[in-house]
Amino acid sequence: MADECDVLIIGAGPAGLMLGCWLARTGVKARIIDQRATKITRGHADGVQCRTIEIFQSFGMAERIQRGANELSEVVFYNPDEDGNLVPTSRIPDTEPDTSRFRHSVLNQGRIEDFLIDCMKTGGLAVERSMSPLSLEYNDSPTESHPVTVKIEHLVPVEDSSDPTSGLYRSNILSDEEFNRSRLRGGKVENIKAKYVVGCDGARSWTRKQLGYSLEGDSANIYWGVMDARPITNLPDIRVKVVLHSANAGSLMIVPRERNLVRFYIQLGTLQPGEKIDVSAQSPEKIIESARKILAPYTLECPEVEWWSVYEIGQRICKTVSFKNRVFLAGDAFHTHSPKGGQGMNVSMMDSYNLGWKLAACAKGLTSPSILDTYGQERVEVARQLIEFDHKFSRLFSGKPAVAESEGVSMEEFQALWVRMGKWTSGTAVKYDPSLIMTASSPTKTALAQNVIIGSHFESQMVVCYADAHATQFADRLVSNGRWRLIVFAGNMEDENQRQRFNHLCNQLMHADESPIKKYTPPSADLNSFIEVLTLTSSPRRVLSYSAFPELARPFVGKFRYPTYDQIFSDEVSYLDGGGMAYSGYGVDPDGPGCVVLVRPDQFIADVLGFEQCVENLAVFFDGFMIKAN
Ligand code: FAD
Repeated sequence: MADECDVLIIGAGPAGLMLGCWLARTGVKARIIDQRATKITRGHADGVQCRTIEIFQSFGMAERIQRGANELSEVVFYNPDEDGNLVPTSRIPDTEPDTSRFRHSVLNQGRIEDFLIDCMKTGGLAVERSMSPLSLEYNDSPTESHPVTVKIEHLVPVEDSSDPTSGLYRSNILSDEEFNRSRLRGGKVENIKAKYVVGCDGARSWTRKQLGYSLEGDSANIYWGVMDARPITNLPDIRVKVVLHSANAGSLMIVPRERNLVRFYIQLGTLQPGEKIDVSAQSPEKIIESARKILAPYTLECPEVEWWSVYEIGQRICKTVSFKNRVFLAGDAFHTHSPKGGQGMNVSMMDSYNLGWKLAACAKGLTSPSILDTYGQERVEVARQLIEFDHKFSRLFSGKPAVAESEGVSMEEFQALWVRMGKWTSGTAVKYDPSLIMTASSPTKTALAQNVIIGSHFESQMVVCYADAHATQFADRLVSNGRWRLIVFAGNMEDENQRQRFNHLCNQLMHADESPIKKYTPPSADLNSFIEVLTLTSSPRRVLSYSAFPELARPFVGKFRYPTYDQIFSDEVSYLDGGGMAYSGYGVDPDGPGCVVLVRPDQFIADVLGFEQCVENLAVFFDGFMIKAN
């Protein structure tokens, strides 16, 4: 007898765990399996982008990252001068000002996975370890509710005798046979039937192979070492990020980490076509020796190495990420590249963050499966941009610098690329194209809210909560719980005409038959459970009492119909924490007609609407994919 679940996640790395968080939060019946007996505890990815921390905030986890991580403030470029001596040539901020309310930070992947695992646990979902899939079958029958069957084998965990400081066991320099050596087969076998299966099983994805899909792109010709250590050095910039090109000995990157650790990325050598790296010849001593040569005349001792590994650089992508909208790939399973840009873990989590709410809505029968098409449309384009960036970045990073008249990579070109891509590498520059769940922009929409970009994520501004006078980051209200949001820029409540227009809009949204709130909120559910209205006035709180707002703006919820206090805000200066700049920040006229911003459950802006025709336009939008509850 097969066990049934809505979603089976294969692989509990960052992508799988982020998906698990969504499904646990939205009450979807999911299982998440991983072939490893234990989770990773050290090394691997460590860069956490601003946008990733914003998403962690929406799950209530950002504070844990901030407490444990090291925030990066500065990047220093070291290049050879005309005589070949290494000198710092420029310093720039690590995160461009006004990128996000959070800063680029570094913390090891194991801790980040801990936070995601704890978050999943609050929704009753836990990773099932030492489990590996054997086969995947798809039943095409239209009456089959759980069409994907995966046969799973419970592995017998192997005593792990490997050196805990070595990350070679997961490196891409291993052959498949070497990689699979630690999996001992022969345990119990079970069948899991699922509505949806998501392969978050990394660069060697078993799921991808079952679908017959493959990664395409460049094969590697350069290999790098990576090491986490507490170094002793006379390089003065060891506690800021350093990007260093030596004249003749190669390049390295230094990233200062939590607990006084330092991450080194060190160029080790080049490979001829078809040449394999000798795994047995790799060691931390060899990596340190290469680092010394690149850093000379600066000195380097590393008495304590916490973790090290060796990897090849290659940019590869699988352009098809779903099979019949029932089986999906996320994360490294469909894009791989060099780790130095600090992108892989972040982009992987953003893949499944994009997919999670859509799968949850489909699994519950709330939306048409056609919204799942947008997963590939949106994320393959991001992966393509990532590969393009990484290709340029790696070529310039690994190239020999042009010194004096000699041929080589232009350091000016490299630094210009770094600066130009700053917003992109923070994760905040992602913009999705128009689709079933994303409208096209127009001059009329732009005129309503000049800095609110359809297709981009909703940025934060400090606002003041009507009910308790607390200053709050507006985007903190975009909690990841599956709800859509209507952000109503209500305007000046001192203006009687504007107040009436706002009240009329709320009335229409709540009572008009075609309003998606009326149509798709189940009669027994809270008024804000499908679409939550967040109101921001340009006038101060004293102008209008909280209780004078219409019910839609401050709905009563739960069995006892408790009042809500966290949906109405003012753009006034707070007592202690600033504010008063939200209307200008979003580019909305504080004395104008106001507007409505439709935000998806993943914080992306789907539309900007005027008050008039708002309900009609929303009706057309949501009727395109919502399913009415019986
Ligand atoms: P993975 O992390 O590879 O997770 C896949 C999971 O699936 C694993 O737990 C694995 O055990 C499991 N699995 C695999 N096959 C099966 C199977 N058949 N059955 C069941 N389970 C299976 N990224 C950044 O964003 N920032 C960085 O600073 C950064 N630095 C890096 C440094 C290094 C040295 C390396 C190696 C990578 C770095 N990356 C970085 C990249 C990042 O680690 C990956 O992009 C990220 O881990 C991908 O997440 P994922 O969940 O898609 O895959």
